[in-house]
Amino acid sequence: MAFVIDGKKISAQIKDELKDKVSTLKADGKEICLAVIQVGNDPASTVYVGNKKKACEYIGIKSLAYELPEETTEQELIAIIDKLNADDSVHGILVQLPVPKQINEDHIIQAISPKKDVDGFHPASVGALSIGQKGFVSCTPAGVIQLLKRSNIEIEGKECVVIGRSNIVGKPMSMLLLRENGTITVCHSKTKNLKEVCKRADILIVAIGRPRMIDASYVKPGATVIDVGIHRDENNKLCGDVDYASVEPIAGAITPVPGGVGPMTIAMLMNNCVEAGAVE
Ligand code: NDP
Repeated sequence: MAFVIDGKKISAQIKDELKDKVSTLKADGKEICLAVIQVGNDPASTVYVGNKKKACEYIGIKSLAYELPEETTEQELIAIIDKLNADDSVHGILVQLPVPKQINEDHIIQAISPKKDVDGFHPASVGALSIGQKGFVSCTPAGVIQLLKRSNIEIEGKECVVIGRSNIVGKPMSMLLLRENGTITVCHSKTKNLKEVCKRADILIVAIGRPRMIDASYVKPGATVIDVGIHRDENNKLCGDVDYASVEPIAGAITPVPGGVGPMTIAMLMNNCVEAGAVE
């Protein structure tokens, strides 16, 4: 029986800590403000944006909502970002991805000032992470580190295996684990002997994007297993990249889906906003 890492509880703790910080900043006359831009009305994006607004309300962060039509051009979107970059009362800027296909995502990410890049996707933020300088860190992997630390799971000196090398999860995840002095292996679709590599892990982070693919045969008994994946299965039930029923009996600690990594992403976004506002 594994220790179940409770992402709901840990994310609630973080949000409460942030609420206190925000009220202290408010007492000093400073109001933190996040601008959230959504282009088009993709239903999943609308849900994510709504959740971000709710979290802002709870913590006491002002949120500015920009709901732009599907046919918005790249130039129009960049003009709005430029205005927000220049506005000192705005501390964080978030463009909900994906954007419609007439807009180049990379151009948008690069248009946001690194000082307001609360998603941590700007090349300057990614570069800062890789050379150990201060900068915003992608929220999902930052949330995983918080889950481990707040569950007293030591990273230093541990064999950490990350499955996935995406720019938003796998790569920053591996850099963060390295920063915490773990010994890191990054796996991807061309990795040979994936099972054998995963079985070396004391900490196995799964961000593979394949429902329930990682079963007990990939896991060393007693290992910590962090499941980043989110999917709806054939019965419309949420599940992760890890086959929880198979892995939980042999793991030392495990995150459930839902209620594991998912709630941490927004908590860390809020943390980045507060940091963006507090540094001035
Ligand atoms: P991507 O699809 O961008 O990346 C998946 C990675 O897994 C790639 O590096 C790919 O390798 C690798 N991969 C795919 N198939 C295999 C395989 N058979 N064997 C080994 N490696 C494989 O996904 P993301 O990183 O964006 O997301 C990963 C998961 O996390 C998804 O389920 C997503 O929904 C979820 N997610 C959850 C978030 C949250 O808030 N909880 C936030 C973001 C994502 P290659 O590079 O070679 O193609």
